[in-house]
Amino acid sequence: MATPPGDMPIGELRRYAHEIADWIADFLDHIEERPVLSPTRPGELTARLSPSPPKHGEDMGQILADFYDQIVPASTQWNHPGFHALFANTASGPGILGETLTAALNANAMMWRTAPAATEVEDLTLDWLRQMLGLPKEFRGHINDTASVGTLVALAAARHRCSGGAVREQGVRAIAKPVIYCSVEAHSSIDKAAILLGLGNESLHKIPTDGAFRMDVEALGARIADDRAQGCTPVAVVAVVGTTSTTAVDPVTAIADVCEREGIFLHVDAAYGGAMAVHPDFRWVLDGCHRADSFVVNPHKWLFVPMDCSCLYVKDVELLRQSFSLVPPYLMSPEHGEARDLMDYGPALGRRFRALKLWMVLRYFGSEGVAERVAHHVRLAGEFRDWVEAEKEWKLMAPASMGLVLCRHEPAGMDEVEIAAHNARIMEAVNANGRSFLSHTLVGGERYALRVAVGNLRTQRRHLENLWSELKELTST
Ligand SMILES: *Cc1c(COP(=O)(O)O)cnc(C)c1O
Repeated sequence: MATPPGDMPIGELRRYAHEIADWIADFLDHIEERPVLSPTRPGELTARLSPSPPKHGEDMGQILADFYDQIVPASTQWNHPGFHALFANTASGPGILGETLTAALNANAMMWRTAPAATEVEDLTLDWLRQMLGLPKEFRGHINDTASVGTLVALAAARHRCSGGAVREQGVRAIAKPVIYCSVEAHSSIDKAAILLGLGNESLHKIPTDGAFRMDVEALGARIADDRAQGCTPVAVVAVVGTTSTTAVDPVTAIADVCEREGIFLHVDAAYGGAMAVHPDFRWVLDGCHRADSFVVNPHKWLFVPMDCSCLYVKDVELLRQSFSLVPPYLMSPEHGEARDLMDYGPALGRRFRALKLWMVLRYFGSEGVAERVAHHVRLAGEFRDWVEAEKEWKLMAPASMGLVLCRHEPAGMDEVEIAAHNARIMEAVNANGRSFLSHTLVGGERYALRVAVGNLRTQRRHLENLWSELKELTST
């Protein structure tokens, strides 16, 4: 008799759940034996996998064998302690457990009724994180997948407010020559948001920075005055706490003064750097952020939560609701008005229970434990910076205040183009060795620098010592 259609038998689920639990523990225990950057070439994996779906169901053992033998080697290992590219992150133990249970519950937090726990735990956990960051009580949180979406949502709310709500009916035509401001060092997600919101690149006015890559607030004020004289309507200013290139912190207090005076919405992008504020010694990074209208920080970056989890905070949660709420009859519930329906606060209807893993991570480590770990990364990055500074041919390319060091090798007699090519070769050699993974940036948009990011929970001093020895070996003559 044919197997009746249905899910995997429960006994089989139990057996494989145990198997992958063991696999995950062994994988993390032995992760250093794997290359950080996957040596795979584009298309190589695809060529090894079946181009068409199997007609008949396959054995789970065979599927997992392909996962272990094909998928894992073709994965760049973000959980490797030698991951120093971009911004290093961590899928911590409690985070992995939370993510797994999220899939088991399969809650869809569109409405309170469809996911009471996911709705309430999201509210509660975001308030915990708010307290840990020292942000004021009025800030209400909402989880999105990424900071890119969080910023898009915040700027949509700013656009709504600026138009007095008319944007919902009239679209961007409701605002005469709308303009958004950020510094030249701000993240490309602001550009994307400007494009998606129908404002376009020309409406994003990029303000120059000072010698430390922070927004020049005088230039901001002058540009706003200029734009107003030309009939433009300033919609929002985006300040960055921890720029992607150099982790510079914009002078948020001075920017807030300008925004307050001019009546402009202020959004703070603290996707990476905001996490620093969990430690009392580093609270200063959020100076002035209590005056922002919205604020975004990514627990999936430096707060040990697996991809993806980004927290958007807004002061006027009602503005967010007015910007996004659209309730057709089939989504009306008896609790509407009494409980928050999270679908009303962003573009997505269906929402994962992302707060569960954040709740588990914060409970497992505790606010002090999280702070201690962030401080440890800052200390490790500080040590690496000291090693760089002590070496004559090595140069620090920006002040290192967070968990990121920007440096490069500058042998005598090389010009800028040669230095860039030389350091690109060094980076590729390190990455090919498989013990560390580095990336690069152009500081100030022109000076090539290697990025050494410290943000993985498994990274210890010895990993940075090994990287430093490797770099010195590659550059010894
Ligand atoms: C990483 C980062 C982003 C983008 O974050 P996503 O969650 O990947 O969209 C935006 N801004 C800053 C400052 C960042 O560091």
